[in-house]
Amino acid sequence: MASVPPAQRPAPPPRECGSFVDPFQVDPALEAFLQQASTLLCRWLGQAGHGTPLPGLSVLPVVEPEAEGLASDRLLADLQLVMEGAYNPNHPGALAHLDPPPLSASIVADLICAGLNNNLLAEELSPSLSRLERALCAWMAGRFGLPEGAGGVAASGGSLSNLMALVTARHHRGLATRGDAVVLCSEEAHVSLIKAVAVMGLPAEALVRLPVNAAGGLEPLALEERLARLDRAGIPVIAVVATSGTTVRGALDPLEPIAALCRRYGHWLHVDGAIGAIFAFSERLRPLLGGLGLADSITVNPQKLLGITKTSSLLLLADPRHLQRAFGTGLPYMEPSWGGGHQGEAGLQGTRPGEILKLWLGLRQLGLDGMAALVEAAVRRRSELERRLRAVGGLSLCSGPLHLLAFRPEGCDASVAERWSAATRAALLGEQLMLSRPVYRGFHHLKAVLGNPHTGSEHLERLALVVQRSLAEASDG
Ligand SMILES: *Cc1c(COP(=O)(O)O)cnc(C)c1O
Repeated sequence: MASVPPAQRPAPPPRECGSFVDPFQVDPALEAFLQQASTLLCRWLGQAGHGTPLPGLSVLPVVEPEAEGLASDRLLADLQLVMEGAYNPNHPGALAHLDPPPLSASIVADLICAGLNNNLLAEELSPSLSRLERALCAWMAGRFGLPEGAGGVAASGGSLSNLMALVTARHHRGLATRGDAVVLCSEEAHVSLIKAVAVMGLPAEALVRLPVNAAGGLEPLALEERLARLDRAGIPVIAVVATSGTTVRGALDPLEPIAALCRRYGHWLHVDGAIGAIFAFSERLRPLLGGLGLADSITVNPQKLLGITKTSSLLLLADPRHLQRAFGTGLPYMEPSWGGGHQGEAGLQGTRPGEILKLWLGLRQLGLDGMAALVEAAVRRRSELERRLRAVGGLSLCSGPLHLLAFRPEGCDASVAERWSAATRAALLGEQLMLSRPVYRGFHHLKAVLGNPHTGSEHLERLALVVQRSLAEASDG
């Protein structure tokens, strides 16, 4: 029987093949290209602290491809132009949003991920990555206190995790054809739930937003009263969404009483822990999230504080088989799964990159102690800034137990708050400190997200000083 001859180097490839990587030897052109790109990136990251978080307008490179393909030096020059105009999360003054600097292992894993170019749609397109994703989801679900057998799927962002959770809950409850079904959450829940309800074909009123207490958390009494009313009226409930870490102030809905109510009525409890769930990695802070393990599903976004490069979100379920039931279609053009099922049948996305790689490697790089230290340091920075701003006086502060803090001048009207926030944000930017300017409870605030590990006391001191000056100017003017 003739055996297949070993792969031989074929005749010189057609010209466009030069843009692909030689599969028969370590490609010297690729090595050089990667080295140059790596130098470019390291330089950009390494200069971060000397620049500003938010660059001015930069030169837009030529957008359309030229007739002749470009060589690597021209491509790198194009890249440089885009990098010069990029937001700079690595700057110690980058405190505006939930967008921390990237972990070095996460950057490396992202690069490898691109080189592997596997597809999480089906096992035969990502054998090791599919298993890694299932295993890491199961591990994280266990850390959050979900029962044995729990697991989940990665998604390109928390909005998608939340949508998939609600679609799964609706399917499980047999409510897919009920146009009157509702989702309950607090009035400070994330806007992605508005999108989810719209995508699910429900009217905007199907998202029932319940009042919060002074600390920004859902009031269990209000929930209890509303659930009883819906029950009497025969209106079906798709899910109750509790938020662990609201977007403006990091408030936590009380999970234990909410879970008890869900159990009483047989409702699905989804915890939107996009911001807050990872605080469970600290033994000291974990009690804040008491009851997390009672959830039916949890959204967690490691991209928001841990430094995992975007996007990195997981949807974890106490019983991940519900995902296949809600999203399984059969994949007639794929070999059957030999492991735990195709990840493409466990969620909404089809083709999907191996985002799990940068999460897995990033967590391995940090270690459990590093993860705990990172979230604890973020909380300490928020406490410090809170203390400094209290000392300034004349401010209304909104925070929670996490790493977010919003503030505005005390006792001013909405238009004064708007002008003050715009002027103070500009003054802060002049000092290389970038805060965001959310509208919260009808007033513009300045908001600091203290997840940046490069931010030190000196930056917080400067921040408080600029705010103090802005208050003095506001009262003069
Ligand atoms: C950011 C956030 C989301 C959405 O996550 P994306 O990754 O931006 O889609 C959902 N819920 C909360 C509480 C968030 O803060």
